[in-house]
Amino acid sequence: MANKFSFFIMFYFFFSCSVKRSHNGLAGNTVLNHGLLHVQGSHIVDKDKKLVSLAGNSFFWSNPYWKGVKFYTKDVVRWLHKDWHTQIIRVPLAADPDVKDGYLYEPEVNLKAVERLVDAAIDEGIYVIIDWHSHHAEQNEAQAIAFFERMARQYGKYPNVMYEIYNEPLKVSWDTVVKPYAERVISAIRKIDPDNMIIVGSPHWSKDVDIVSENPITGYNNIAYTFHFYAGSNFDWLSKKMTKAIQNGLPLFVTEWGTVDANGDGKVHLEVVKMWMELLKKYQLSHCNWSVNDKTEGASILKPGASTKGGWTEKDLTPSGKLVRYYIRNWQNIVNQNKK
Ligand code: MG
Repeated sequence: MANKFSFFIMFYFFFSCSVKRSHNGLAGNTVLNHGLLHVQGSHIVDKDKKLVSLAGNSFFWSNPYWKGVKFYTKDVVRWLHKDWHTQIIRVPLAADPDVKDGYLYEPEVNLKAVERLVDAAIDEGIYVIIDWHSHHAEQNEAQAIAFFERMARQYGKYPNVMYEIYNEPLKVSWDTVVKPYAERVISAIRKIDPDNMIIVGSPHWSKDVDIVSENPITGYNNIAYTFHFYAGSNFDWLSKKMTKAIQNGLPLFVTEWGTVDANGDGKVHLEVVKMWMELLKKYQLSHCNWSVNDKTEGASILKPGASTKGGWTEKDLTPSGKLVRYYIRNWQNIVNQNKK
């Protein structure tokens, strides 16, 4: 235990030193530099057909009762961009039928919160994923289609925006449940917005990308697939699924990952996080960390009571927040090591 603890301290010391050394600001406006992102084979490329790997944050569910929505502010987006060098945020519209003050029951308040963050990301010049955050999206297909039609009309002209049409399907069939749902939602979006990226969830909490890779969606352009991992889960088993999907040519997007257990709680699994980050670097995948919140659970980047206007110091960040800030802030340096 003593050894592990001292290693942890050394690792954090390294973070703070490297953060100070690399304190040289951002290389301009992310979306201005890269433009509309496109799927090309199993990769995601920018307007100049260069490989892109972005790092950023997922916010928490949008519904008021769970309180994560208090961080849905322009100031927080600005702080994440300026201080964390966040290049992409993910906005989870609480759309699960089990969330009783979510979008299905209280559409206006949830919609306004999502729009606030999307508008803030566009103003900051960073990317934003609009996420239908549900484990049962096939039960609410009509609402999902109406929502994404609205989003496509409002935001389809902005290269910043991506549509994630199903967060995490549960143990349901890809072939007969998720894929047909996705094809109908994609068809509706494409009638309005012909080009922005659409990201599709995979069964088993967006883990079964290997199954998806055997029968991907065809006939539509710019479709990527959600892959999620939590460092507290089994690394070997899950990384094999991911690698198999990539080898089969499936373009993946890690719209959500955690340093802790898959239930969002528990301790930071530092060594496993490092292994995942090596893989994301190797395959040049983009990723958003779960989540921007101050709830008392391991995955929150903030301690309870942290400001909803950003400006956070070291003492406002949880162990997960400090680790994730290091990775996001240094991500472009980390992935560029591949190219040297
Ligand atoms: Mg468009």
